[in-house]
Amino acid sequence: MGDYRKLLKQLEQKSNKTKAVKFKKHNMPKARSNGLANNKCRRCGKTGKGVIKAYHLNYCRNCFREIASSLGFKKYD
Ligand SMILES: [Zn+2]
Repeated sequence: MGDYRKLLKQLEQKSNKTKAVKFKKHNMPKARSNGLANNKCRRCGKTGKGVIKAYHLNYCRNCFREIASSLGFKKYD
């Protein structure tokens, strides 16, 4: 997962701000309104198909497996 915020911070700390301005104009990731990249696990931050949205869980399958019993899912082994 490339984190653009780190790069943007580095560019903004430079004395010459034109690169930061150009980055914002041309290379900044869009804020997504829908799509798989928008589904994010609230425990580990994983995105994509493995994220369970049912019952507003918003956990990925791996995290769900680890914490299901503590959430009150009884039939889960
Ligand atoms: Zn997760």
